[in-house]
Amino acid sequence: MMIPLDQAQGIVLDSVSPLPIDVTPIDQALGCVLGQTVYAVNDVPSFRNSSMDGYALRSDDTKGAPVTLQIVGSVSAGHVFAGTLAPGQAVRIMTGAPIPNGADAVSMVELCEPNDDDDTVVVTTEIPAGNFIRHPGYDVAAGDVLALAGTTLRPAHLGVLGAQGIGTVPVHRRPRLGVLSTGDELFVDDGPLPPGRIRDANRHSLLGLIREEGWEPVDLGVVPDDRGALLEAFGRAAESCDALITSGGVSVGDFDIVRIVLDDVSGGSMRWMQVAIRPAKPFAFGTLAQTNLPVFGLPGNPVSAMVSFELLVRPAVRRMAGHTNLFRALVSATSTVDLARVPDGRIHFVRGHVSLDGEGHYFARPLEDQESHQLNAMANANALLILPDGRGVAQGTPVRALLFYPADVTELSDDQSTGGAGS
Ligand code: AMP
Ligand code: MG
Repeated sequence: MMIPLDQAQGIVLDSVSPLPIDVTPIDQALGCVLGQTVYAVNDVPSFRNSSMDGYALRSDDTKGAPVTLQIVGSVSAGHVFAGTLAPGQAVRIMTGAPIPNGADAVSMVELCEPNDDDDTVVVTTEIPAGNFIRHPGYDVAAGDVLALAGTTLRPAHLGVLGAQGIGTVPVHRRPRLGVLSTGDELFVDDGPLPPGRIRDANRHSLLGLIREEGWEPVDLGVVPDDRGALLEAFGRAAESCDALITSGGVSVGDFDIVRIVLDDVSGGSMRWMQVAIRPAKPFAFGTLAQTNLPVFGLPGNPVSAMVSFELLVRPAVRRMAGHTNLFRALVSATSTVDLARVPDGRIHFVRGHVSLDGEGHYFARPLEDQESHQLNAMANANALLILPDGRGVAQGTPVRALLFYPADVTELSDDQSTGGAGS
């Protein structure tokens, strides 16, 4: 019996919860989720300063401009003008420098004509009070919310925190994820492949997916279909990880030892699922009995392993990382070709390429080589095109796409818009 994707996702999501909150240096917190709301402790800026290079002056002095003012000094960012401006005086000022006492406006340098011979400046237009002055708290006032609990910390947040002198933040711990490849066929040594053996793809792509999310990968290596070796690897995972991701040995026909050992160590909590998707139908999930370590058992076929990660691991680990929006936002794209399929009770996820036309509309085309071992097509894809159960999506009609590399979306070329399923 196949189970719908959303049910499988529900099973996984119900079994994981947000990781504890650690006080973390801001420069190690990029992408982490705030565990508590953070408030401003200071006004930023904390003093009146100039937002322009020009002359600090008294607005009243510029009535009836042009007027000539006496230059009594100069002040740049990081320095202070010691005196107080008297009527008829001006101070040369640079962006970010404190406004001298007595001044209430800045005239931009382009509207001034200085005369070096007698230290005067002609201000050519009237300057209103407050002109080009940044006031204390203009950006952030003490007590303001800097970022709400639940916020994903982006580079700008780190800058805002740094500008407050806030050096650490309470964030959910970055998930540490162990990755293990299983199977007797996997050959890790140098030198030519022995007959019947293959090299490991999955550990590398899964570790990469983890790094891409900003999570901490733990490489648990390759383990043959051997009880002792598997137990040893599960032990290492439990010691060092927040979750374990295995690949291989979860299919129906598999009499792989992985399945037997996982059943043993999970106190029977492993659910062996047939998820109603293609690729990545086989999937297992449970928790280790001693430690409650979540275990994701992904299929061995390299495309399936990655799709399974995207649809079943990523949302769960996002929950562990403290996120509340767990699923990628989908985009709607016009299919440049017929995306035909036959009904089989499953949602199909087609390796595809999404591009944009000049007006900003998305277009999608499928890549060749759609079998679950054809990892190269995955490498050339920037999206999975979602074909609900049925007969597919006709050329020129919308298809939903799970766009995992928006940065790789390029402008559509003419040959792509007129058809052809080639990659
Ligand atoms: P399984 O899920 O163990 O039945 O494996 C399905 C297919 O994926 C088989 O062809 C395996 O040889 C292959 N496979 C399993 N693990 C890996 C891996 N780590 N890298 C590349 N191919 C794999
Ligand atoms: Mg196997």
